[in-house]
Amino acid sequence: MPKIYSHSRLATFEDCAKRFEYRYVLKIPTDSEGIEAFVGKRVHEVLERLYKAAERGHVPSLEKVIYRYHRLFEENYNADRVRIVREGTPLEFYQQLGENCLTAYYRRHYPFDGDETLGIEQRVTFALDEKREYRFQGIIDRIVRARDGVIEIHDYKTGKRVPSQKQLDEDRQLALYQIGLADRYPDEPMRLVWHYLQQDRKLTSTRTPEQLRYLSEDTMSVVDRINDETEFKPKRSALCDWCEYNDRCPIYPKERLPSGQSAAPPPDPDPPARREGQLHLFDAKTRIET
Ligand code: SF4
Repeated sequence: MPKIYSHSRLATFEDCAKRFEYRYVLKIPTDSEGIEAFVGKRVHEVLERLYKAAERGHVPSLEKVIYRYHRLFEENYNADRVRIVREGTPLEFYQQLGENCLTAYYRRHYPFDGDETLGIEQRVTFALDEKREYRFQGIIDRIVRARDGVIEIHDYKTGKRVPSQKQLDEDRQLALYQIGLADRYPDEPMRLVWHYLQQDRKLTSTRTPEQLRYLSEDTMSVVDRINDETEFKPKRSALCDWCEYNDRCPIYPKERLPSGQSAAPPPDPDPPARREGQLHLFDAKTRIET
C-alpha cells in the first residue's frame, strides 16, 4: 500500500515525534480541536464560498459574508469538543477575531477582480522522485494568475504570529505545492503568497529551481527519518497545551489538564500497525499552526 505524505505530517513529526505517533502511527482518534483551529476552518470556508460566488459574478456584500461566518460558527461549535486553551478568554473574543480577519480581507480585495482565480481549495498530488516513492499531497487555498501573468499559490493564515521574510523564504509548505503544480503549469513563473488575516498583511516569496531541488532532497530526508523512527520521543514545547493528545502524553503535567479530566490510559506499546512494520499516514490539512 503506497504511503502519501504531506507538509502537515512532516511538521507534526518535526514538532513532536510522540504526537506524530499518536496521530499517524497509532491513529488514536480524537474529536477535539483548539478554538484557533476551529476559527481558522470557518474563515477558510467563508473565503472559499466568497471566491466561488465571485467566479459566478455574484460578489456577496460584506454583511452577508459576516452573517455566513457567524452562522457557520454557531452550526459547528460544540463546547465539549472545541477547547479554549488560553484560560479566561471568552468565546466572543474568537468569534470577533474571525469577523475581523474576514472584514479586513474583504475590504482589501473587494470587488475581487484584481486577479484570475484558477483553483479554489485545490488538491495536488505529486512525487518528489522518479520512482514515486516519496509521494505527497496537499490542498491549496487558491491558485491565481496575477495581473503580471505569474501563477500564484495563495494561503490564508489566521494565526497571531507573522513570520519574518527569511522564514517565508525557507518555508516548505507552499514551495512543495509549487513543485506539485509544475506539471500543470510547466515553465511558468510562480510566486508564493501568504495572507496573514489578523494583521491584514500580504507577504510573498519566490523560489529558484535550485532551491526547489534542495527542498526536495531535504524533504525526502525527513521522510526517511520518519520511516527509520522507532522511539517517537515526546518533545515539550509551547504547542503542548494545544496538543490533542496531552491527556495521554507521559511528560505533559497532569495538573495542566482541564479540571475533571483524568489522564488517558497509555497506548498499546506494540499496536497492530507497528507490528506489521507499517506507518499508516492519513489525510489531514493542518489549517492553523498554533
Ligand atoms: S503534549 Fe507535547 S510532548 Fe506530549 S505528545 Fe503532545 S506535543 Fe508531544
